[in-house]
Amino acid sequence: MHQVSSQLVWKYGKIVAEDLKIQNMLKNHHLAKSIADAGWGYLFSMITYKAESAGREFERVIAYNSSQECSRCSAIVRKDLAQRVHRCHNCGLVLDRDHNSALVLEKRAS
Ligand SMILES: [Zn+2]
Repeated sequence: MHQVSSQLVWKYGKIVAEDLKIQNMLKNHHLAKSIADAGWGYLFSMITYKAESAGREFERVIAYNSSQECSRCSAIVRKDLAQRVHRCHNCGLVLDRDHNSALVLEKRAS
């Protein structure tokens, strides 16, 4: 767990929009097990502590539905995984899917 949090802090300057990457880590069985055993709360508190002492920012954001939300107007734009482009029916924003979700996460963080 110490290693996991150190790696995260070392690897990412600002761990705001990176919650999705943490979710990806759960796909790694070995990591997922140690995270599940120790608990998210513990992992997050360790990252917070280490990020702080390294002078880096860490903010938890909820990644849920970030790929379905419009980063400009917050409308829900349903898309499946094959759709790589976000096209908002409400405000007309057209943006790469991943770029749009990153902006949504950034908005949730602040
Ligand atoms: Zn929109």
